[in-house]
Amino acid sequence: MTSNLFYQSRQRRPEVERAEGVYIWGKNGQRYIDGSSGAMVSNIGHSNPRVLAAMKAQMDSATFAYRLHFENKPAEDLAAAIAQRMPEGLNKVFFVSGGSEAMESCIKFARQWAVAAGQGSRWKVISRFPSYHGSTLGALALTGYGPLTDAFGPMYKAMPKIPAPTCYLDRDNLTDHDRGLKYAEMLRGEIIEQGSDTVLAFAMEPVGGASTGALVAPDSYYARIREICDEFGILLIMDEVMSGVGRTGRFMASEHWNIRPDLVAVSKGFGAGYVPLGAMIADEGMVETVLDAGGFAHGHTYAGNPLACSAGLAVLVEIDRMELLSNTRAMGDVLMAGLHDLMARHRFIGDVRGKGLLTAFELVSDRDTMAPLPKELRAFERFVEICYERNLITYSRRTRGGVEGDHFLVCPPMIVTEPQIGDILNILDDSLRVLARDCGL
Ligand code: PLP
Repeated sequence: MTSNLFYQSRQRRPEVERAEGVYIWGKNGQRYIDGSSGAMVSNIGHSNPRVLAAMKAQMDSATFAYRLHFENKPAEDLAAAIAQRMPEGLNKVFFVSGGSEAMESCIKFARQWAVAAGQGSRWKVISRFPSYHGSTLGALALTGYGPLTDAFGPMYKAMPKIPAPTCYLDRDNLTDHDRGLKYAEMLRGEIIEQGSDTVLAFAMEPVGGASTGALVAPDSYYARIREICDEFGILLIMDEVMSGVGRTGRFMASEHWNIRPDLVAVSKGFGAGYVPLGAMIADEGMVETVLDAGGFAHGHTYAGNPLACSAGLAVLVEIDRMELLSNTRAMGDVLMAGLHDLMARHRFIGDVRGKGLLTAFELVSDRDTMAPLPKELRAFERFVEICYERNLITYSRRTRGGVEGDHFLVCPPMIVTEPQIGDILNILDDSLRVLARDCGL
């Protein structure tokens, strides 16, 4: 059958029939367990009846009313609901429709704030390698992932990168604490190298996503990063597109370390698969400065539309009603223990990591050296297919610490139960055995 549709590759999957809770049914008669919440999106599960009811009610009133012509209550209420959950003063919300748009907004807002605040020499946004901040050209300039950025190099101004804190690959004698500081000091070094009066911001994922496989830094890293930003008057942008809205067991992952960023990007679990929705959450004082100086010269047509905001608000209400933050912490512990069991059984698992229900494991050919599996084995592609054949959906990318590597994210919806985690782990165990047989591991 020919199709007029195309995405990144020629790969085609079964047509979806329906989705409910942690399951998706294909028209091929198979039921799949959503082990990755799609792309870490369907955080409160599929087809939540209360969210659908809120959307239907909104549809009966107005699906779209352009923000230059009308205010709308769902947008106002959703902004207030977010502000209530954020640290003091981080309470101004700028809506967009996705994660890349949220990061673009942060970059452009930061720059406009600097100009308005008389700091026009500042324009560089330092980020990490590897990292993923989105697919638009501005967000790509921050992204540290060659296969997605290389072709576009001449089309944007690449921003300076420091190594992501891939401590699990280090074979030094440092304590975790000192390793965290070592990686944080790289930011200080880069700021000095670039000229501190040219540096506008530092952007990071507090818990890594697909680029690093749920990378978590030692505790010492986070506080030191904030200190270094403060020392040089540099803004801290937290990309919580994947880690935010509860996925790690706190509303924002940066709460685990008591970090107050200046700007935050959210999406994915914010619309939770019901609508495309994202936001930049900004410091109140910075917003006043930009608005006083003539306004924020940036925006997208669908931003803050009432239908998307009604769904976003219902998602937040459901997270509270079902106590999904505490479920995420509890189920995250169960999942993490299960992944460590898998590591004990399969010696080609080199590392298990993550926070809450943003977890991952990484395959290696040698646990002592952490050497990756040979690329020719195509272990990554094979494993995804082996899991899919066993009705488990996974989501991953092949990269780590600047070199090739195979890691797999395990991120079921936050409504997941212990027996469902057991099912996911059993399929992973079986799939790892098949992979070992097929690849001679
Ligand atoms: N930032 C992070 C950390 C992400 O994980 C993603 C998407 O995976 C993005 C930004 C881009 O979001 P979107 O695909 O919605 O544009």
